[in-house]
Amino acid sequence: MANKAFNAFEMAQAQFDKVADQLELDEGPRELLRWPLREYAFSIPVRMDDGNVQVFRGFRVQHNDARGPSKGGIRFHPQETIDTVRALSMWMTWKCAVVDIPLGGGKGGVICDPHNLSSREQELICRGWVRQLAKNVGPLTDVPAPDVMTSAQHMLWMLDEFEHIHGAKYPGFITGKPVGMGGSLGRTEATGFGVIYTLREALKHLGLRPEDTTASVQGFGNVAQFAIRLYNQLGGTVVCVSCWDQTDQKSYSFRKDDGVILDDVLAITDRFGGIDKDKARDLGMEVLDGDAWIEQEVDILIPAALENQITAETAPRISKKVRVIAEGANGPTTPEADAIIQQREIFVIPDFLANAGGVTCSYFEQVQSNSNYYWEKDEVLGKLDIKMTAAFLAVNELSVKRKLFMRDAAYVIAIGRVAQACRDRGWV
Ligand code: NAD
Repeated sequence: MANKAFNAFEMAQAQFDKVADQLELDEGPRELLRWPLREYAFSIPVRMDDGNVQVFRGFRVQHNDARGPSKGGIRFHPQETIDTVRALSMWMTWKCAVVDIPLGGGKGGVICDPHNLSSREQELICRGWVRQLAKNVGPLTDVPAPDVMTSAQHMLWMLDEFEHIHGAKYPGFITGKPVGMGGSLGRTEATGFGVIYTLREALKHLGLRPEDTTASVQGFGNVAQFAIRLYNQLGGTVVCVSCWDQTDQKSYSFRKDDGVILDDVLAITDRFGGIDKDKARDLGMEVLDGDAWIEQEVDILIPAALENQITAETAPRISKKVRVIAEGANGPTTPEADAIIQQREIFVIPDFLANAGGVTCSYFEQVQSNSNYYWEKDEVLGKLDIKMTAAFLAVNELSVKRKLFMRDAAYVIAIGRVAQACRDRGWV
């Protein structure tokens, strides 16, 4: 079990309880949705390169599949716990439901540190994970994907093992595959673009034109880079970005008042999203403290790095100018900070809505793989825009109608949909 100080599953259950009260959910659906439907915990013995056998613990949790096959990533992490996996699987259920894709929520993991494992050893863990679960996962039941420290290569090893066991091709078993091997075009852009599709709608609602706005972004990785690209295309100006500096073991912010030029900064960024400080100065950027991104005088904040960044301590530093926070990262805002933001009437696009472009595109990958027919990138991104926009509008409408904070409105819609699916099936 996770340590007592912070237990992600207890937090996920507490969030659920709050919304269940608002929805006045009956005891049946409440009890069913507070817990995963199914959990698998198992051992994966691996003959290591030195000839010894090491046993790894693996998990898969299927929180709910009333709306469709479970969907969610597999993490490789030395501190993985069943409670983390339970919490993440529950959050996946709500994320798929809020964007209204016909999938449930799942999550998996293996306690291991890929930094200390050879490629061969990682392959054996992947194949072992699938061997333990081959009858309990699949394109019609539970569809895994990459997550922390797992990649397209891990997904291909897992797919290969699954197809070997079942004696046929099932490209829809897993997503996050490389393009050309069953992956979808547009997946790289999907999460960042999805953030901006919802931001575009939020600005419309607030009567702001993107070209009149400025933004500050935490992070400069996959989500941030593509969010900035599309926001720039809409005419918006990013004046500050930030990143983690691996050498100094601290974070920095980079400001350019007349606007960060995305391609210039990309040219001095490593593959982990770290920006070279000296070269940034050469580009005329001011190098500031890691936290500086949050106190910029901008209209929009986009946290796109880590969880727990907007807190009771940092939220009071948010400039009075800020009108919107678009949460690209998962869990960037603590409940205490939410209270401050709500009081200041800053418009929040909550994480599981704003960053749902990734899972929506994974759903598109699954659809393409199941039909063995692959779409052009424009088609993928066009469909993504339609889904994200519709999801945003539904949440915003409820938020206005019931005077709910956007996060609460998103939860009410998501949990309401899943509870209804359970009722319709006659489960509760
Ligand atoms: P990434 O690894 O590509 O990039 C992370 C970025 O954050 C890097 O630029 C890194 O330097 C920076 N960073 C790390 N610590 C920082 C700190 N203390 N201060 C400032 N910057 C810091 O990751 P990503 O895929 O862009 O994911 C970012 C967030 O979005 C995570 O919370 C992730 O869970 C969430 N998310 C990602 C996806 C996806 O499809 N990539 C989907 C949904 C949610």
